[in-house]
Amino acid sequence: MVEEFLPLPYAYDSLEPYIDEQTMKIHHNKHHKGYYDKLMKIIESYPELQEKTIEEILSDLVDISEEIRQQVINFGGGFFHHTFFWDILKKDVPFKKNSEIGREIINKFGRFEDFKEQFSNSAGNLFGSGWTWLILDKATKQLEIIQTKNQNSPLSIEKIPLITIDVWEHAYYLKYKNKRAEYIENFFNIINWKKVEDLFVKAQEKVLA
Ligand code: MN
Repeated sequence: MVEEFLPLPYAYDSLEPYIDEQTMKIHHNKHHKGYYDKLMKIIESYPELQEKTIEEILSDLVDISEEIRQQVINFGGGFFHHTFFWDILKKDVPFKKNSEIGREIINKFGRFEDFKEQFSNSAGNLFGSGWTWLILDKATKQLEIIQTKNQNSPLSIEKIPLITIDVWEHAYYLKYKNKRAEYIENFFNIINWKKVEDLFVKAQEKVLA
């Protein structure tokens, strides 16, 4: 299998006080690891899937045997989305208006505060479990804020992820209890804008190619 379950790219306490160490430990070691283990189990007897990356698998759902397709969506999505989420989190990497992504966000949403409000509303209004994303749409080549339910992936609907927030309750309940809005507000202190810039530049090359 080409995919591995990797350690977090930083210490469990490095997002404190915005996301606490205990939440990060349980989220990574139990939830994320659980998705990975279940995915591995499901594709044990599907060697053609074992040779693909998780991005390739989620981008081409019709290629997956119907017997396991929904489970691959659930556990493969859970595996990929958490890896992606860890990678775009870091403290003290501020938004820059003059970066590529900064200019595009201003161009699309108006002020940064307008983007923040729309993204926060999307994450706050999501009913049940899921994720809110900033994505680049492959067809329109535009930025969009979207929600995905459960572990459904933007990769499966021709959208390239740039930022995401996990709004399953396990992502915030230990620290924030029912105050999802506070968790979302604090999320804006830990977006790794340098990483988002890299993702956006690569995404643009892909859609313009
Ligand atoms: Mn999660």
